Amino acid sequence: MSLRSENLEKLDGGSFDVLIVGGGINGAVSAAALTDRGLRVALIDRGDFAGFTSQESSNLVWGGFKYLENYELPLVWKLCTSRNHLMRQYPTQISEVGFLATLDRSSPFPPWLAAIGSVGYWAIGRFFTSRPSYFGTDKINEIEPVVNTAGASGAIEYMDAYLKDNDARFVWGFVRSALDGGATAVNYASLAGSNRSANGWEVTVLDELTNTKLDLEAASIVNAAGPFVDGLNEKWDLKTKHRIVYSKGIHLVVPRLTESERVLAFFDDTQRLFYVIPMAHRSVIGTTDTRTEIADEGVNDEDRQFLLDQINSRLNLTSPLTTHDIIGERSGVRPLVVETSGSDHTDTDWTKLSRKHEVETDENARVVSIFGGKLTDCLNVGEEVAEALEELAIPLTDASDDWFGEPSESVRNAFYAEAAKVGLDRAPAVERAASAAEVLWRRHGRAAYQIVRAIEHDPEMGKPALGDSDVLWAEVALMGEREMIATIDDFLRRRTKLSLIYRRDELLAHPDMPRVQQLLGL
Ligand SMILES: Cc1cc2nc3c(=O)[nH]c(=O)nc-3n(C[C@H](O)[C@H](O)[C@H](O)COP(=O)(O)OP(=O)(O)OC[C@H]3O[C@@H](n4cnc5c(N)ncnc54)[C@H](O)[C@@H]3O)c2cc1C
Repeated sequence: MSLRSENLEKLDGGSFDVLIVGGGINGAVSAAALTDRGLRVALIDRGDFAGFTSQESSNLVWGGFKYLENYELPLVWKLCTSRNHLMRQYPTQISEVGFLATLDRSSPFPPWLAAIGSVGYWAIGRFFTSRPSYFGTDKINEIEPVVNTAGASGAIEYMDAYLKDNDARFVWGFVRSALDGGATAVNYASLAGSNRSANGWEVTVLDELTNTKLDLEAASIVNAAGPFVDGLNEKWDLKTKHRIVYSKGIHLVVPRLTESERVLAFFDDTQRLFYVIPMAHRSVIGTTDTRTEIADEGVNDEDRQFLLDQINSRLNLTSPLTTHDIIGERSGVRPLVVETSGSDHTDTDWTKLSRKHEVETDENARVVSIFGGKLTDCLNVGEEVAEALEELAIPLTDASDDWFGEPSESVRNAFYAEAAKVGLDRAPAVERAASAAEVLWRRHGRAAYQIVRAIEHDPEMGKPALGDSDVLWAEVALMGEREMIATIDDFLRRRTKLSLIYRRDELLAHPDMPRVQQLLGL
């Protein structure tokens, strides 16, 4: 029986302490944290896990240097703390990276002020990262010749971190942690009906893949529907202190623009920072920050052209980037928190709205709602949701802290030694890591041992699937078994980043695709 069918069976007729609606980062961390605290947890998402906002981020784990512009010191302090915590816990998945911010006519600050700001930011981050630097134009030309320094007055380089794989894979890690702890989790399962009962909630869930309904009971609900949190609360007639407004952001994936692993940062013509971020052998340009009322607006021509114009005028390229150079695109809305009783924000500068999150509890309805939030702050969200459930008098056991983080360095090195025996010490073609073993460990942790065993049994399984991709056949087989892949895009876009770094239509037409689908059970 597939992992998904097994979980559907557990959901049907089940009785849970908590049902989490929404399997983005906030729902996934909540599931992992609450399972760790001894609760019977069910997690559903009407699409794939991380199939909405949590697959559209900039992949940055950061303290929010740019929020200093709005003097949001407490938020930056908190995000730096969370960033440092995540960097310690995920040493292979999250890497420190330099942000080289070139200051030119669009920069709202003179170089001396930006330099002071970067030192202040380093201090707020408790000096956890490498120190910031200031560079004159000659130095910029030397270290990043692709940057057009005509009109530049200098650059600062400050440090933050980024997810080496994608955001959606990071989210999957929490879903897997919840499953390993005994939670029930199902993707493509939507909330079809919910009624208050003496014991909490009676819920009907629709399996979106077979169109069948099933019922369950839950003592409480965590509303982790991201941009849709207000819609669910309205359905339940809940009055909340906070609500969500949307800010749209897009990214374009293009061929590598610089050989270094740095992020290049520039102020766009509206004086807003945007970035060129490394992703395997590609570069990701983004993001934008525009007000919208629509949660699932894709990338439009205007967005695309804006980013291409901005980047073309700030780099020395042999020929300017055009839409033909775009390999993949991302578009999402940041769910930003505002007070329900406050203004309607029609006159607010959208880019200045805070990026903090709020967790609210309705004791009467037994619903905990999560508003906003960043991937960077995810561990705090998990802990805050656990505290909120305690307020509902649901008894929790002590936290073990086993629900997040990678195993220790010595466990990792033991894996590398084992992996080297089957040739996985070679450097991968596109992933820019020291060895294939490092990439496998980063993606699968201890489960990567199963890949080594499969290659020992059949060395052909150690070869890359889909041409020169760094995804091995043994890895495809493991994902088919453990990662609840129900559609090909779950594999291409979320469990891996293949359809971001290669063109999706070419992957689908690849001669290896039928075998990939067979191993995934599709
Ligand atoms: C352009 C952009 C760039 C960003 N960059 C960064 C960054 O670099 N670093 C960072 O830390 N943060 C970043 N963020 C913020 C971060 O990505 C989001 O705040 C976060 O992903 C929100 O997660 P979520 O779980 O609240 O929402 P989502 O990921 O949207 O999850 C909500 C889920 O609920 C499901 N759902 C909704 N209704 C129902 C229902 N009725 N039944 C079942 N399921 C339902 C949806 O399908 C969805 O999967 C960025 C955001 C954007 C848009």
